[in-house]
Amino acid sequence: MDYQAVLDEVAAYARPFVRQGEVADYIPALERVSPDRFGIALVDIDGSVYGAGDWETPFSVQSISKTFSLALVMAHAHDDEIWSRVGREPSGTPFNSLVQLEWENGIPRNPFINAGALVVTDRLQTLTGDASTTMLHFLREESGNEDLAFDQAVADSEADHGDRNAALAHFMASFGNLENPVPSVIEHYFWQCSIEMSCRDLATAGGFLARHGLRTDGSRLLEAREAKRINAVMLTCGTYDAAGEFAYRVGLPAKSGVGGGILAVVPGRCTLCVWSPGLDRRGNSVAGAAALDHFTTLTGWSVF
Ligand code: GLN
Repeated sequence: MDYQAVLDEVAAYARPFVRQGEVADYIPALERVSPDRFGIALVDIDGSVYGAGDWETPFSVQSISKTFSLALVMAHAHDDEIWSRVGREPSGTPFNSLVQLEWENGIPRNPFINAGALVVTDRLQTLTGDASTTMLHFLREESGNEDLAFDQAVADSEADHGDRNAALAHFMASFGNLENPVPSVIEHYFWQCSIEMSCRDLATAGGFLARHGLRTDGSRLLEAREAKRINAVMLTCGTYDAAGEFAYRVGLPAKSGVGGGILAVVPGRCTLCVWSPGLDRRGNSVAGAAALDHFTTLTGWSVF
């Protein structure tokens, strides 16, 4: 398959969708991003890299980091402990919702909504002593980009507007579902969200999800069944309360973030990352979803 031709066609198809969404405005640091950007990268399991549009421009990974924190917890623990503290069912509610936590005794529905990611970050903190630095080092190694860094302005802005995430964390702590102090858990969570990466960096760093758990250097990060599980939870929960719609349109495991990025996996073949900052009301990139929809239509490479 001529990947470059496919990406060029997907980018042309997605262009008219680029201005349709709204750029995230819950923090000033994200609001400043131009809505006109669009990029797409594809990394084959053999490491070949292709891209179109703004595919080498860094953006705020935001909730895409939740994929990597879950993978790192599994890689460090290789046990099922995390699943006694977080579920794996779609929530059907917005990513920052509080409501289900009370019904379910402080156990979040899945690791990809904010509440679940806070629990995963807490576990990573216990396992490694420094959750956010562990993630940054891993992403640098896997992407091959030593320049990856936290964006201090974004992290500070998240903290300044972090009442909702703090509330989620305190509420879960009241049920005994956090091991570390709330301020430290939310601080590491904000740092993870603030990491700046391009489509190229993210598609490369997520390659272990397409290679059944093998890292870029061929060593094993996860057992194949662990990589399978992360992909399954991405498919069912990775795009929040639009996961059903996303499976219907795209049919790939995917994780979105309010920076406008979406990381998607074609297991056994490749990883893709799309970026366009305009979001739909569920917090998913409008042009990004359209691009992935068109990609699986052109290639026939959905998991179905
Ligand atoms: N930093 C954002 C938050 O915690 C991440 C949300 C997202 O990308 N969906 O609200």
